[in-house]
Amino acid sequence: MESLRSAEVRTKTLVENEGGEGVAMYQFSRAIYRDLAPYIDVPRSNHEHVLHACEAAIERLATDRYYFAKPEKSLFYDIRGFFPMNAQERVYQVVYCYMGLAQQYMTENPLEGYAAVSGKQPMCRATTRKGAACQRVPLPHNGYCPSHQHLADTEDRLAA
Ligand SMILES: [Zn+2]
Repeated sequence: MESLRSAEVRTKTLVENEGGEGVAMYQFSRAIYRDLAPYIDVPRSNHEHVLHACEAAIERLATDRYYFAKPEKSLFYDIRGFFPMNAQERVYQVVYCYMGLAQQYMTENPLEGYAAVSGKQPMCRATTRKGAACQRVPLPHNGYCPSHQHLADTEDRLAA
């Protein structure tokens, strides 16, 4: 009980203290948790697991979305075990709905979403010839800076 309350307070504090876009990102995980909380199976400690899984999925979506292939599927499989059989359909619908909205938000506000969750500005995904991470600001649509756009083209060819 106590640990559940502290998790809720932590999330609430985060949303209230951070201005701007950070609020929006954590609102998605809070919304999923809030909608599903009445269906979570016993014991009570399951609540904390579900809330943390939702937050982790949103954080990963904001900071690592190019390598996070199916966020809604991933979150559904992470939390479905905390719900009874007759609530699975509901869990599926809520997760797919909010994760879809979160992905849409990240597509429209990729740099803001990243900065809000990580507290840092996003950096280009490439590694320089000296082996260090490229420090330049990436373009929102593929996460590479203007000098490393050719890597995004290579990726597209490999994926095709
Ligand atoms: Zn770069």
